[in-house]
Amino acid sequence: LSRIAYVNGRYVPHAEAAVHVEDRGYQFADGVYEVIAVHRSVLVDEKGHMDRLDWSLGELDIAWPMTPRAMGTVMGEVVRRNRIRDGIVYLQVTRGVAPRNHEFPANAEAAVVMTARRIRPFNVETNSQGIDVITVDDIRWKRCDIKTISLLPNVLMKEQAARAGAYEAWMVDGEGQVTEGTSTNAWIVTKDGDLVTRQTDNKILSGITRAAVMEAAQSAGIEFTERSFTVDEAKTAREAFLTSTTLFVKPVVRVDGEAIGNGHIGTLTARLLDLYSAHMDGQGSGKDSAA
Ligand code: PMP
Repeated sequence: LSRIAYVNGRYVPHAEAAVHVEDRGYQFADGVYEVIAVHRSVLVDEKGHMDRLDWSLGELDIAWPMTPRAMGTVMGEVVRRNRIRDGIVYLQVTRGVAPRNHEFPANAEAAVVMTARRIRPFNVETNSQGIDVITVDDIRWKRCDIKTISLLPNVLMKEQAARAGAYEAWMVDGEGQVTEGTSTNAWIVTKDGDLVTRQTDNKILSGITRAAVMEAAQSAGIEFTERSFTVDEAKTAREAFLTSTTLFVKPVVRVDGEAIGNGHIGTLTARLLDLYSAHMDGQGSGKDSAA
């Protein structure tokens, strides 16, 4: 099976999928994106992703290139044509093609690209394996709430983590508070047992998985607090984990080389992983269309 990509209205072989050199995404990173999980052939939290895309597009003053409904149809088609049962859809919208000038072009048409690929089916057991994080200086801009394709700081920090033998880098702001991971949201269970994740503001991306986990926690009567936490709190935490579309609920067992808890997935993390698993299984049934 050869992979198929969607580029501005056409389904094309992945290997031949291309955009113009003067696409503003290429020239200025002037665009936004979403990554949506496919679980058992169903898009996970589609509405949440479309709502966040709406926010990102609005903040950059890029008009929707098609209705969210049509976007859903194309995503479904990309999933179908690539025969994805478990995988991800990558969706990117840029301001389009125009002669290279920084200011917005008068009449560029937003460009849409979608790709999809398979990933290993979600499995609670393998997802319970913990990972290492390091902490780094958050060198990003002041609009981290926009899901822009401008990811150079994230790329540099993730590379730094990889070189340190860690999976993710937790970024730390000027006040010594953890903001988030380079492609994940950060959570801890403090030494006093409080479940904590940072409040959403301009310093982090409002994760769809984060929201789903909060909603699942709420339904299960698990309390949590949205506030920032320090590196020291993270290092002395009972449990730590991160959330994202592709890592789901993933235990963090070391921060800067220091073991968290007993070095294995924590009790509450395991509970939330189970709840998130159920959330994914409930997709498309109409029972759990959480945004
Ligand atoms: N923060 C950043 C910076 C990210 O890139 C991502 C991945 N989109 C997340 C958090 C997690 O968000 P989500 O749960 O929507 O994948």
